[in-house]
Amino acid sequence: MFSRLDHPPVAFEDYRPLLDPKLADELATVAGKMRHLRVLHLNSTATGGGVAEILQSMVPLGNSLGIETERIVINPDAAEFFDVTKKIHNLLQGSEGELSSAELDIYFSCIQRVADDMRAKGLAADVWFVHDPQLLPLARLLPKKEGETWIWICHIDLTTPNKSVLDALMPLTQDYDQLIFSQSAYVPKGLGDKVPVLIAPPAIDPLTIKNIPMDLPQARKIVAAMGIDTARPLVTQVSRFDLWKDPWGVIDAFRIARESVPGLQLALLGLSQATDDPEGAEVFKTVADHAAGDPDIHLYFDPAEMPVSVDEVVNAVQMVSAVLMQKSTREGFGLTVTEGMWKAKPVIGGDAGGIRVQINDGVTGFLVSSAEQCAQRLVELLQDDTLTARIGDAAKESVRKRFLLPRLALDYLNVARALVNGRIPAVSGD
Ligand code: UDP
Repeated sequence: MFSRLDHPPVAFEDYRPLLDPKLADELATVAGKMRHLRVLHLNSTATGGGVAEILQSMVPLGNSLGIETERIVINPDAAEFFDVTKKIHNLLQGSEGELSSAELDIYFSCIQRVADDMRAKGLAADVWFVHDPQLLPLARLLPKKEGETWIWICHIDLTTPNKSVLDALMPLTQDYDQLIFSQSAYVPKGLGDKVPVLIAPPAIDPLTIKNIPMDLPQARKIVAAMGIDTARPLVTQVSRFDLWKDPWGVIDAFRIARESVPGLQLALLGLSQATDDPEGAEVFKTVADHAAGDPDIHLYFDPAEMPVSVDEVVNAVQMVSAVLMQKSTREGFGLTVTEGMWKAKPVIGGDAGGIRVQINDGVTGFLVSSAEQCAQRLVELLQDDTLTARIGDAAKESVRKRFLLPRLALDYLNVARALVNGRIPAVSGD
């Protein structure tokens, strides 16, 4: 009912040249004091989506810092489990509706069986980082042992949650020692009175295939092999096909902008549908209908049709695009926004959730609330190279300072260390 995932090793020293030296030293020092601990990160999907993306880098980084760190992914045995957890995700982001008792039963009984399996197999750790609502009941159902530290990390946008699901699930947070949210605006009222809350915005790994510098000729070759004309301007949204990412609005904005920028092309890249997101194929169909066979709207859904790996495709498309969009209407924190900014590209983001923290409107990108506004910003950027370069450079520097993985690792380790030290004798030299 669960698997351990292996990720290729990384070397902490390779990150140093990209970091503020103070942050790098602090991370090494804190990690040095935690070498006696075993750390687990648990989530519900091995690939696809931002959390999987973060963990596949966070776990090897922990190990390279000398902390025994493992990645666990659950394999629920009920076919409906991910339908229910996707509904929970949507409700927490503000959809109408409520969970039926049958759905709650699927959710709890499935996690109970996962917990039983973990207990039977003796899964153990000093610090448990449990990511997102799919696994929230685990601390209660395993249950956590004396001396263990359990931290729940919520990556989603909870600004306008559906109250019924909030009431049903938030009591489960009380079984944790610490909660982590991406933004203070997401912390449900009253939650922080019972369990301490840390705000830690997510981050990207600058050393992955997706984010390392790719030279332009290579990027163009990949994009051309995807059927895009590299002699004409391209704008892109890289995102799962998901209701909250507003792919329809992206197409509308593109159509308006194309009137002022003839020859403009659009790519919508949704190749990394997470296994815990069963809605993607349906959303994709409606987006394809909306695109109505327009030869300059390129939709990508099937990784098997790509000329190279998905990570290389994402890197290449972000490099070749003149402007990137992330027109989400809800977004805990858009890793794609940060990935684009790290490539010194102007990103137009939906004025929602974490994107407001990621983009300083008019300085490191633009925030928009409608297709018309998005189109206007697209045209401004496509017609003004100086503006594009200024915004792109500022975007990259803001990511370097605030949104690279070692900063997030430091946030996680600092809080874990404080909790552990409250419970067991301090390590010598502490
Ligand atoms: N992604 C990808 N291929 C795609 C679409 C998305 O690899 O075709 C990746 C994207 O680069 C990012 C992650 O999936 O690293 C999405 O994270 P984000 O926080 O933007 O959104 P989420 O999917 O978690 O809602």
